[in-house]
Amino acid sequence: MKRDYYEVLGLTRAASIEEIKKAYRKLALKYHPDRNPGDKEAEEKFKEAAEAYEVLKDPEKKRLYDAYGHQGVSGSGFSGFSHTEDIFSAFNDIFEDFFGFSTGRTSRRSDFGPQKGADLRYDLTISFIEAAKGSEKEIEIQRLETCTRCSGTGAEAGNEVTTCPTCQGRGQIIRSEGFFQVSTTCPNCSGTGTIFTKPCPSCHGKGRTPQYRKVKIKIPAGVDTGAKLRLRHEGEAGSRGGQRGDLFIVIHVEPHKYFHRKGNDLYCEVEISSIEACLGEVIQVPTLDGQEQIKIPAGTQPGAIFKLKGKGFPDLRGFSPGDQLIKIRLVTPSGLSDRQKELLQEFMEIEKHKEREKDGFFKKIFKKVELR
Ligand SMILES: [Zn+2]
Ligand SMILES: [Zn+2]
Repeated sequence: MKRDYYEVLGLTRAASIEEIKKAYRKLALKYHPDRNPGDKEAEEKFKEAAEAYEVLKDPEKKRLYDAYGHQGVSGSGFSGFSHTEDIFSAFNDIFEDFFGFSTGRTSRRSDFGPQKGADLRYDLTISFIEAAKGSEKEIEIQRLETCTRCSGTGAEAGNEVTTCPTCQGRGQIIRSEGFFQVSTTCPNCSGTGTIFTKPCPSCHGKGRTPQYRKVKIKIPAGVDTGAKLRLRHEGEAGSRGGQRGDLFIVIHVEPHKYFHRKGNDLYCEVEISSIEACLGEVIQVPTLDGQEQIKIPAGTQPGAIFKLKGKGFPDLRGFSPGDQLIKIRLVTPSGLSDRQKELLQEFMEIEKHKEREKDGFFKKIFKKVELR
């Protein structure tokens, strides 16, 4: 007898897709096999939640389920998950999201034979312009490398190396902790799976030593804060012939003095005098490629926006780049000379005379005032 999918996720039928996602994520984390090794009940709960989510996240399956229950969904060709492995393959991308960098699969298998090196994270701050133009960086990280003295065996040369009797060479032991069984690194061999009479003095028998390494990173043009770059096999060295982990670079982009970014569009504000706005003018504006001239037409209003097409950020997926949007801010000139004042006075007189005509500037203003 199957439980109601909404009940499984602890939701009512009115739940939104966001709530469904959230509820599933919570359960998947709680009952994930990595956290509950050997726990059959947790595994069942994990499968049950995955099945409920598989149906409810899909609008068509959800409609069928809402209308006809389990019958409705089994008729559409979906029959639930029988193996945990199926769930991992169906939800691989989601698990990347949920568990961050470690998908959980590698660590679950790690208690046998070769052990993959750990993934590493490095937070890299770059300038606004570097994000727009792309750049190459060299960073220095500390990571575990295979010990050169013993080639990773952990034993000093000429030693007899035997399989660790405590863990039978697995490097991990299963320990009961209350209700749960937890696998931990074997204390007898420090996870190497082998023992010897004389350990390598360089790595103290661990087979790996922390070392500083320089890594070159190519940052693609168009990245934004939060972007993750994956450098395969630049993480820590594996043990017992296991492969290297990966290095993840998490990008942080510094704010810019003039520019800000929305999606791939670039925004900036430019100040011009109200006289320039009246008469029109060609002005210099900053762009990602340096200065560019734009023509401000006569009669430009405050807040007007001009667009430089394709002058925003390049698109990471190869779509067309964003635009640059320039917002005009007007400043009233001050500290005028007598001659300038005289000219503006004359301008005002002419405008006042124009009141008799329909389109006088001041007349329009007065009209607005009268209306209030
Ligand atoms: Zn060594
Ligand atoms: Zn051992």
